[in-house]
Amino acid sequence: MQPEKKDAQDQGDAYERCVCCHRRVDIFKNTDIEFRAFYVEGAGQLCYGCYHELYAQNAGG
Ligand SMILES: [Zn+2]
Repeated sequence: MQPEKKDAQDQGDAYERCVCCHRRVDIFKNTDIEFRAFYVEGAGQLCYGCYHELYAQNAGG
């Protein structure tokens, strides 16, 4: 584990990553979780694909 750098010039670093597949998602890290899509309390940020794979099943495909 590396310590997080403060000087984040990296644009990619400003985005959240999916806790499941670790892909970058189109949500900024400083976005309030209330306004995030595919965010699951207790689990974290998911991407569209993982969210639907994990939760769409319950809806019955
Ligand atoms: Zn994912």
